[in-house]
Amino acid sequence: MSPATSTALKLNNDVTIPAIGLGVFQSPPEETTSAVEAALRDGYRLIDTAAAYGNEREVAEGIRRSGVARDEVFVATKLWISDYGFEAAKVGFAASLRRLDVDYVDLYLLHQPVPSDFENTIGAYQAMESFLAEGRARAIGVSNFSAEHLRTLIDRTDVVPAVNQVEIHPYFSQPALRAVHADLGILTQAWSPIGGILVYVPGSDEGRGPLTDPVVTALATKYDKTPAQVVLRWHVEHGTSAIPKSVKAYRIAENFGVFDFSLTADEVATIDALDKGVRGGPDPEKLNRDTHPKVVDNS
Ligand code: NDP
Repeated sequence: MSPATSTALKLNNDVTIPAIGLGVFQSPPEETTSAVEAALRDGYRLIDTAAAYGNEREVAEGIRRSGVARDEVFVATKLWISDYGFEAAKVGFAASLRRLDVDYVDLYLLHQPVPSDFENTIGAYQAMESFLAEGRARAIGVSNFSAEHLRTLIDRTDVVPAVNQVEIHPYFSQPALRAVHADLGILTQAWSPIGGILVYVPGSDEGRGPLTDPVVTALATKYDKTPAQVVLRWHVEHGTSAIPKSVKAYRIAENFGVFDFSLTADEVATIDALDKGVRGGPDPEKLNRDTHPKVVDNS
């Protein structure tokens, strides 16, 4: 594969999504605008936000300031669980469109399953199917779904999710779930793609993440790249979409510099072998309104 072949990926409805995008979870509102503006100037064309992140307005402002046309930016956001259910989802979606100052989004995701209230999870997805039919979302999908959640959803609804956005980095690479995605025609999108969840959770230190792993740092030295670039290139080699977050301009640029080198199949396999099979984030089976009591204000 030539180094740059996978700058964009195709979804199951033929919509194209950039392989690398900017994530803005935990980006403070005042830094989100400058991060989005910097990313778009560097060539990013995918921004991943969520109603629950509280910075959709600042994403909109960053897009405006960048001068990049709306239809050149792939805008992805997510419905939070306080807006699950068919009717509530319509309210939540309208509020996201308003905050993002757009009349459509490129990708709309259920932020997470609520296994103990899967009826309302399905109801919300059915509302998303209507947004897709109306052209107000170009693609719809889910996040943090297990294989079982995906199968149940697909049995009960009409549109196979285009994307499942899940925790994936070298220490938790989820090969079994990725195989299910491939079978079902669902694109894998990696959150915490450079292992942020292992580093920023309370009590952690940088040594827990994959960026200091000797396998990764040796490849960084070999290719004269940074550890983050090696890990992001590993995602590209797998055909995974990745959405690294940074509010620092130099890192935003760094994280996009992954299309001028490639890893060999053996090197990809060496990084695959780092998988510890232990997630940093919460178990999707246990997500509910008690573990995640946040309520999005749609006023
Ligand atoms: P990441 O793996 O993207 O890591 C982000 C952390 O790494 C930040 O602390 C950032 O700090 C730091 N960082 C960024 N670039 C570099 C670099 N080149 N070298 C060293 N450190 C770096 O983790 P996230 O959890 O933030 O995930 C990314 C995105 O995924 C989120 O922003 C969000 O869009 C999405 N997400 C979705 C979830 C879901 O449930 N659907 C859950 C979690 C994330 P700094 O900003 O200071 O540079």
